[in-house]
Amino acid sequence: QWAAATGPRELLLASPRSFCAGVERAVDIVRRALDRHGPPVYVRRQIVHNVHVVRELEERGAVFVTEVDEVPEGAVVVLAAHGVAPAVRAEAEARHLSVIDATCPLVAKVHAEVRRYAGRGSTVFLIGHGDHEEVEGTVGEAPEHVVVVEDLAAAATVTAPDPSRVAYAMQTTLAVDEAEGIADVLRGRFPALDGPRRDDICYATTNRQRAVAAVAREADLVLVVGSENSSNSRRLVEVAERAGAPAHLVDDVGQVDLRWLAGARRVGITAGASAPPHLVDDLVHCLSGLGPVTVRETETTREDVRFTLPREVS
Ligand code: SF4
Repeated sequence: QWAAATGPRELLLASPRSFCAGVERAVDIVRRALDRHGPPVYVRRQIVHNVHVVRELEERGAVFVTEVDEVPEGAVVVLAAHGVAPAVRAEAEARHLSVIDATCPLVAKVHAEVRRYAGRGSTVFLIGHGDHEEVEGTVGEAPEHVVVVEDLAAAATVTAPDPSRVAYAMQTTLAVDEAEGIADVLRGRFPALDGPRRDDICYATTNRQRAVAAVAREADLVLVVGSENSSNSRRLVEVAERAGAPAHLVDDVGQVDLRWLAGARRVGITAGASAPPHLVDDLVHCLSGLGPVTVRETETTREDVRFTLPREVS
């Protein structure tokens, strides 16, 4: 396997890749909360969906919990980037917790849309994965009004009590092409359908998908750095495959199977929005141990998005 995997190769780095502004902000919030209050700082759910980020923050003194009832009364708790249902905030308040909200502003925007539509009495079709934490939180804004639509089949059959009062919203980390296809089916079935001006898929998800598609078109293999529970990372694998390259999701270089590299002379590399940039550097470094490499970066967009920090840590 080792011998088959060696040889010269070209590494095609997709750009943008790795951390987005919402993830940078969420990680920064936990670090600053630790500096300000000292450990332990509790964090509800994984702050972002990446094992390396979680491990690093645990080493600094963050304690990850599943629900706020595990947090001692009066302690500091950070709410993760994916957002939470209002019921979670109410529970945190009832326990007199000091809440620092790391919800990404782009997720908060979708929550606000859902509240607005539901406030008008509309049924809201939420395009997304029902088991994802972001969707759980968004549904929680108006559980009686929101119907999760996972795929084209669901879009073709879903119903609303009043078809003249319907709207849609999206999970922020979907595959752009798939989500648009689902929205099209809903628009076709519900002429009165209200919705966001473009879509709710965030800039980081959109840009990383466009970038990985560009490298996948030229690559024999694509490696996506990201964790299994990271929606946007998993979508990068699918987008790369649809662009014509076999693709694999790896948490880090340790998960790369040498068999994938046999005959792969051009390897596309990207990382999900929750994966730290140094993991890509490690991957490039290790691949250079298998033979001479040339590294080429394909930049499809330049990002300069920054979000302000909440006042509790700014
Ligand atoms: Fe925000 Fe998008 Fe990053 Fe999620 S992937 S944290 S929605 S910028």
